[in-house]
Amino acid sequence: MSPDAPTTEAPLFEARDLVKRFRSRGTVVQAVNGVSLRIPRGRTVGLVGESGSGKSTVARLALRLLDPTSGQVTFDGVDLLRASRGQMQALRRRMQIVFQDPLGSLNPRMRVLDAVGEPLAVHRIAKGSARVDRVVELLERVGLRSSDLYRFSHQFSGGQAQRIGIARALATDPDLIVCDEAVSALDVSVQAQMLNLLKRLQSELGLSYLFIAHDLNVVRYMADEVCVMYLGQIVERGDGDTLFADPRHPYTGMLVSALPEFAPERADGRARRAVPRGEPASPSSPPPGCRFHPRCPKAMQRCREEAPALHGVADGRAAACHLFDAGREASAR
Ligand code: SF4
Repeated sequence: MSPDAPTTEAPLFEARDLVKRFRSRGTVVQAVNGVSLRIPRGRTVGLVGESGSGKSTVARLALRLLDPTSGQVTFDGVDLLRASRGQMQALRRRMQIVFQDPLGSLNPRMRVLDAVGEPLAVHRIAKGSARVDRVVELLERVGLRSSDLYRFSHQFSGGQAQRIGIARALATDPDLIVCDEAVSALDVSVQAQMLNLLKRLQSELGLSYLFIAHDLNVVRYMADEVCVMYLGQIVERGDGDTLFADPRHPYTGMLVSALPEFAPERADGRARRAVPRGEPASPSSPPPGCRFHPRCPKAMQRCREEAPALHGVADGRAAACHLFDAGREASAR
């Protein structure tokens, strides 16, 4: 669903015009610059882009683990930036995160019972035997067994550890889970199991996901709507299948053309098609005009001087590119 499409239901989560700048070694880093997102209930919005595009900063702004320099974030109608401490505590139960490194994100000295049960203790949801029962229920929901209860995280494989991370995120019965590169560290076959688990949990529990990854295929599989980020900005958004079949923004086109093709003669079954051209600029000194212009094969003089706005193009999509300014779309294709 496009955020620009009319909808009768208020979204569960909405971010408007988020900006995040911070100082690093005497320079100002523009990590996020004018990002807006809307996540309907029970749906998945995917954020994709190269490393350094600002995806993970958006994740932290969404959960208010970071405060934005400017912009607005609402969750179920509550303005998170104006929420009281008590309100924020109650809302944190409903917004959880699954991290990239499943083993690194778990305390190796904690048993599974304590790792998954910790949010139940912190939020005073259950204690004693009720907590144990709830942890067993969570483990079984994610495909682990009650006999895993007293094992330590280092005794599990990466995929099993990520199941523990997901069980922990589910403990407080959240509405929104931010998956920040949640499957990126896993083997391809384990990735597929984890994506299917997340999909099943979504349909069973009505979860909404903000799904962040650098792998387009993964985002395409998971997301109802895909947002492509480049140097802190969303440059294209739209339905995943349409966007991948017919990318409008030159950066999306470059990412799609670099997707691995199925190549059964190779040991891993995948072959690379094209290497993305050039490297992104530093977020501390983004190029003037369109931030993508130094890498864009279609750059014009105007692109070096004027930043394009994100606006609607065909098929309910939006793109930030001068090629799609009014009246130019036909000539751009
Ligand atoms: Fe390329 Fe210009 Fe479009 Fe930027 S605005 S993506 S430089 S054509």
